[in-house]
Amino acid sequence: MTSDHDSRVRLRAALDGLPPYRPGKPATVLEGVTAYKISSNENPYPPLPSVAEVAVGAVANINRYPDATMSALRERLASHLEVTAEEVIVGAGSSGVLSQIMAAAVGENDEVVYAWRSFELYPILVGLAGARSVQVPLTAEGRHDLPAMAEAVGPATRLLLVCTPNNPTGPSVGAAELDALLRAVPRHVLVVVDEAYTEFVTDEDAAAGLEVYAAHPNVVLLRTFSKAYGLAGLRVGYALAHPAVATELRKAGLPFVVTEIAQRAAVASLDAHHELDVRVKELIGERRRVLDGLRDQGWDVPDTQANFVWLPLGADALDFADYADARGLSVRPFAGEGVRCSIDVPEANTRLLEVTASFRADRS
Ligand SMILES: *Cc1c(COP(=O)(O)O)cnc(C)c1O
Repeated sequence: MTSDHDSRVRLRAALDGLPPYRPGKPATVLEGVTAYKISSNENPYPPLPSVAEVAVGAVANINRYPDATMSALRERLASHLEVTAEEVIVGAGSSGVLSQIMAAAVGENDEVVYAWRSFELYPILVGLAGARSVQVPLTAEGRHDLPAMAEAVGPATRLLLVCTPNNPTGPSVGAAELDALLRAVPRHVLVVVDEAYTEFVTDEDAAAGLEVYAAHPNVVLLRTFSKAYGLAGLRVGYALAHPAVATELRKAGLPFVVTEIAQRAAVASLDAHHELDVRVKELIGERRRVLDGLRDQGWDVPDTQANFVWLPLGADALDFADYADARGLSVRPFAGEGVRCSIDVPEANTRLLEVTASFRADRS
C-alpha cells in the first residue's frame, strides 16, 4: 500500500506558492440600482455594428480551423503600424502573446525584472517559467523607477518588462527615461514594452512604443484589442518583434489559438478605427473629469494615461471596495495598497465620484 503522500499527483514545484490570477469581480446585483463593473478596465461600449456583423458572419465557418498563420490580420496590422507582417505575432490576447514570449525567453533560474506593483499576470508567468521575479518598487507617484530597474539587471536577467501606462497605477513611462534605460541594459536582454493602454495616452512626454521599437532590436512591443478596441471577450492581442526575434518567438506559440471570429473582428476594428477612436476620446474626456473631481475632493491620485484611476487607499483598500460594492460599483482592490477603478460610461463615473466623496466624508 502506498501512503497518501506517495499517491499524490506530482506537478512542478514551480507551482507551489503561485497565486491564481484573480479576475475583476462582476457587478453585484442590487435592488433598484444600476450596477457597474469597473474592475477589469474593459471598454464599456458594445461592439460597433460593423465589427459585430463580421464576427457573426465568421460563425458560418467554425467547423474549420482558423488560419494558423493569421496572415490577413498580420498584413492589416503591418500596414496600420508601418511594419512588415513578419514582425507581427498575434495571440490569444496580449496575455497569450506574453506567455509565448516567456516560453521563448525565460527558463529555470533566469531573472525577469519588472516594476511592482504592476500587471498581476507578470509574477504568475515568471513563476510558471521557474524563473525569479526581480520586482523594483514603483516611486511614491506610482511611476516606474527606471534607473533602479536598470540597476536591477544582472547576469541572470533574460527579460525586462515595462508596463506603460502602468496597470494599476496609471502613469506612463517618459520617452527620455525609457531611452536611458535601453541604453543601460545589455542588448542581449529582451525588453518587453507592454502598451495595453497605448490608445489612451495623451502625455506628450510619454514614450512612443513604435519609435522605441524601431530603434532597438531587443525591444518587443505588446498591444491588445481588449481595452481601447473593446474586444476583451474575443481574446486577440499582438506583439511586434524584429524578424530574428520574431522567428524564434513563433516557435513558442501554439497553433490555432486565435479563432477566425477574433481574427476577422480585429481586422474589422482596424478598418473602423476612426469610429473607435471617437469612443476612446470620450473615455479620455471622462478620465479628465474623474481625475479632476477626485483631486477637488482632496484625493492624492497619481496621473493616469490609461482608462482607469488609482486610489492609493493603503489599509482602507478592501473597506473601500466593500463600500463601493454596496453602492453598485465593483472595483479592483489590492489589499493594503489601493483600488483601481475603470473609467466607464458617464453615469458610472459620476457614481464613482459620489462614492469617493461620501467615503471620505464618512471617514473624516
Ligand atoms: C489587460 C492587460 C493586458 C492584456 O490583456 P489581453 O486581454 O490578454 O490582451 C496586458 N497587459 C496589461 C498591463 C493589461 O492591463
